[in-house]
Amino acid sequence: MKAAVMRGTQQIAVEDIPTPEPGPNQVLVKIKYSGICGSDVHRFQYGMINSGSVMGHEFIGEVVQCGAMVTKLKTGDRVVSGGGEPPAGAAARVSVGDRYSARTVGLKSTTVGGFAEYIAMDEWRPLRIPPGVSDELAVLAEPASIAVHAVRTSRFKIGDIAVVMGAGPIGLLVMQVLNAGGAEGVYVSEPAPARAAAARALGAALVMNPADTDVVTEMVERSQGLGVPVAFDAAAAKPTLQQGLEMVRRGGQVLVVSMAWEDVDLLTVEWIGREVEMKAAYGSEPVDWRTVLNLMEREQISNESMVTPESFIGFDEMQSSLERLMKPEEHVQVVLVP
Ligand SMILES: [Zn+2]
Repeated sequence: MKAAVMRGTQQIAVEDIPTPEPGPNQVLVKIKYSGICGSDVHRFQYGMINSGSVMGHEFIGEVVQCGAMVTKLKTGDRVVSGGGEPPAGAAARVSVGDRYSARTVGLKSTTVGGFAEYIAMDEWRPLRIPPGVSDELAVLAEPASIAVHAVRTSRFKIGDIAVVMGAGPIGLLVMQVLNAGGAEGVYVSEPAPARAAAARALGAALVMNPADTDVVTEMVERSQGLGVPVAFDAAAAKPTLQQGLEMVRRGGQVLVVSMAWEDVDLLTVEWIGREVEMKAAYGSEPVDWRTVLNLMEREQISNESMVTPESFIGFDEMQSSLERLMKPEEHVQVVLVP
């Protein structure tokens, strides 16, 4: 089968590799769409993945072959790339271990992921896509599970106003989940015009351009001088963590759901006196995936302005697309069609 294989820092090659044979408890999935994640771009950019690995964890596809012991899935089932309850002894999340590091994970093993025509998966792992959910929406299930996890583990409460910094795929999905969860309004900070437009189309109360608006002053004014209860850093840009910590109210929370691979500046004297909190969210659990599929079925998460006809690329565009995604860009989500 064809696959996009990492061959060094900022080098990805389309190669023929063996099509996996599903084990007795596995299914073979023919991948239809495979989204490119910001973390894939970082591993490509910084070379933090073993040569020979195939990245890609945001895929959907169809079961085309079942191992002898498979009972729950059958050929023809449409599935997402995760979300199943693990059997006793198996881990649902990759981030196990007391000293887990998101930076070095790609170097620990050489894996075959979703930038390929097929993938073999343990039967328990993928969830079935509800019939009413389109493939173009379902391909957002994995990043949406990250967004649900971030909101679910944050201090956000129904009726709160909230801020999302960064309107990439994760920021746009966090915004939609907050709206579905009963936010009074979700305020978005985003400098790139296409991403700002997507935030407007998907229900932002207001989109601020941090290049010409002081987002901290703006949000303090819009919250009766108190600051906001919770701000989500989905950008990991140089100033966003500091902005978030400044704009939340006394005892408020910044929820970090983005990965900065370079230093960010913090000036603690601006916010230490309000005893604000910073919390990280990473990955997702089965309940987050099930919530995503429910929200998608109820049309509370949309792929509008996120997955569009311009999103789709072939194998021959993988190298150039990953290079382009290293810089701020116009497409919101890029999806490989293997
Ligand atoms: Zn991802």
